[in-house]
Amino acid sequence: MLIDQYNRVHNYLRISLTDNCNFRCFYCMPEEDYTFSPKEALMQAEEIEQLARIFVTLGVNKIRLTGGEPLIRKDAGTIIRSLSRLPVKLALTTNGVRLNDFAAVFQEVGLHSINISLDTLQAEKFQLITRRNSFHRVMDNIQLMLEKGVYVKINVVVMAGLNDHELPDFVAWTKDVPVHVRFIEFMPFAGNRWTSNKVFTWQQMLERISAGYAFVPLKTDAHETAKAYVVPGHKGTFSVISTMSAPFCSTCNRMRLTADGKLKNCLFAQHETDLLSALRKGKISHHW
Ligand code: SAM
Ligand code: SF4
Repeated sequence: MLIDQYNRVHNYLRISLTDNCNFRCFYCMPEEDYTFSPKEALMQAEEIEQLARIFVTLGVNKIRLTGGEPLIRKDAGTIIRSLSRLPVKLALTTNGVRLNDFAAVFQEVGLHSINISLDTLQAEKFQLITRRNSFHRVMDNIQLMLEKGVYVKINVVVMAGLNDHELPDFVAWTKDVPVHVRFIEFMPFAGNRWTSNKVFTWQQMLERISAGYAFVPLKTDAHETAKAYVVPGHKGTFSVISTMSAPFCSTCNRMRLTADGKLKNCLFAQHETDLLSALRKGKISHHW
């Protein structure tokens, strides 16, 4: 088991498949040209599987694929297939635009839950945020996943003055559609034009929603970063994630593997451990 100096057990690994993306969300990526990792620097499909297997022997039982946009990798299907054979709960976070190409793979491997990012229910605002004109495609793909019986979580980054007024619209969406909307506090990253006055706290979110809806809390487990609620009678749920105003570091069970194979034990960590170079030099191996 991987236990850190604070006695936290780390059993959840997030693997970034690429640092590149087909969107340019203003809070995540700079608009101007950005130098992405060259292909040789990225973990290859077999290397991802090798490293994942080692983590599994050390107690990891949940793996989430993320990015950049994980589904822009040509071999994303191969990676999903190979990791689905490990004894882990496999999950995926995506911007949703290429999901239609992967429906068959998901069905084949039994991937039952997907996080799709969608910060607005308005096509024009979608373009403003992502700098791409893909709103209808993403909405169609959400519908497609629901039709395939996938449990769909929607990640909404809430930014004061930009989409905070849409919170009730998202909750209204959960009435007849079984989506699980997660409202996330906007976080600072280098170059994302973050200012603290764009943070809309989880308390403000609940206040905004309570003006239109009566809702009740749902049970959540200790490592869950989201506080979940349901409006009685609604098919879907919503939750708030307090990344900024009330961090959840003490119960964190996550580790992150960057697309070039570096281990980060915190999203904000400055220090990284280069596992891919060690693997390529034959300095780490597993026997299974
Ligand atoms: N491209 C995929 C997507 O957008 O879902 C996966 C990678 S993306 C970096 C993972 C999640 O981080 C998305 O839900 C995105 O909205 C969220 N995110 C990115 N920048 C953020 C920020 N500054 N504050 C809060 N959440 C952020
Ligand atoms: Fe791409 Fe996701 Fe970042 Fe948006 S949030 S730019 S979709 S990686």
